[in-house]
Amino acid sequence: MAKRDYYEVLGVPKDAAEPAIKKAYRRLAKKYHPDLNKDKPKEAEAKFKELSEAYEILMDREKRSLYDRYGHEGAQRAFGAQGFDWSDFTHFGDVDDIFGSSIFRDFFGGVATPVGGSLFEEFFRRSGRAPYGPSRGRDLRMDLEVTLEEVAKGAQREIQVPHGVTCEDCRGTGAKDGNLTDCPACNGTGQVRDVRRSGFSHMISITPCTRCRGEGKLASEKCPECRGRGAIQKTSKVSVAIPKGTREGLSLRVLGQGEAGDRGGPVGDLYLVLHVKDHDRFQRDGRNVILEAPITISQAALGGELTVPTLFGSATLKVPPGTQTNTPFRLRGKGLPELNGSRRGDQLVRVVVRTPKSLSAEEKKFFRHLGESLGEYADSHEDTSFRVR
Ligand SMILES: [Zn+2]
Ligand SMILES: [Zn+2]
Repeated sequence: MAKRDYYEVLGVPKDAAEPAIKKAYRRLAKKYHPDLNKDKPKEAEAKFKELSEAYEILMDREKRSLYDRYGHEGAQRAFGAQGFDWSDFTHFGDVDDIFGSSIFRDFFGGVATPVGGSLFEEFFRRSGRAPYGPSRGRDLRMDLEVTLEEVAKGAQREIQVPHGVTCEDCRGTGAKDGNLTDCPACNGTGQVRDVRRSGFSHMISITPCTRCRGEGKLASEKCPECRGRGAIQKTSKVSVAIPKGTREGLSLRVLGQGEAGDRGGPVGDLYLVLHVKDHDRFQRDGRNVILEAPITISQAALGGELTVPTLFGSATLKVPPGTQTNTPFRLRGKGLPELNGSRRGDQLVRVVVRTPKSLSAEEKKFFRHLGESLGEYADSHEDTSFRVR
């Protein structure tokens, strides 16, 4: 089946901004979540994968631009030789988690490449895992929502990571007290010789022993703690630093918090993908934040000082006499910090004049007088709404 256009998959225009893509994704992810489509699980899973792939590409600036320029092939190339691999796509978080922190937990498995290239690429690059011997544990991925305040100031967060950890009793060997004995099938060599005659020649093939999986050693008794698996499932508390100025989709690599390795292999890593929650008062515009602040008719006419919230506590804003509705003001340095940088954005405050409702008889009389007195100014249009002070 031909691959569908990523924009089409998400139903967004080519120039859609990140929040629109995020919104479309969340809506569709909920719709096609396999747990909600039990009657057609195969179809839902296919849809969900298609959707997730499109989301991953379009939310990553670099990948998106590759895709825009070269199409699917461009995006594919960015993933490395193996391409986008979903073979370990088996675990779905709870339906409720769609807005929580573990939508994608455990979607990407078997990644075992050392650092190099972007972290994003590492999700998709799969190692050629050696069939025998110790192997590195799988990397895990979790999604984490952060607030705009956390973007502004950075934060230390404690998260719960469910994963397999190496069993201490047997040091990951799966054998009771870590005691291993020579495999009787291969006499501890780990290899099996097979001689086959064909005509006048004979072929000797050497294959890894299947009994001990090529290790030459076997557990004579299984470790009672982990029942021979070498790892125990547990939920670890992990403390992570959310960097200042984080942006939507940023990946944090937390070393050694992935799955335990097989037979004493190294532990995988945890990748935390950060999502910035919408704020109920502030809107984000790159490094700037926008706030809408109501003012009264008299404050607008006479001017005055306004106390407005910022991400760093409240601030005072001087409103000059004769301020029109929708006039934007700038509070320098009250915006968001740059990721890994020293620059900081501004807060833009758009004042909106609130016209009073349900006036008393006396107030009405007052406004009528005021109206008559202001009559002569009514025709003069002075448009200041697009000037930022
Ligand atoms: Zn054990
Ligand atoms: Zn063996």
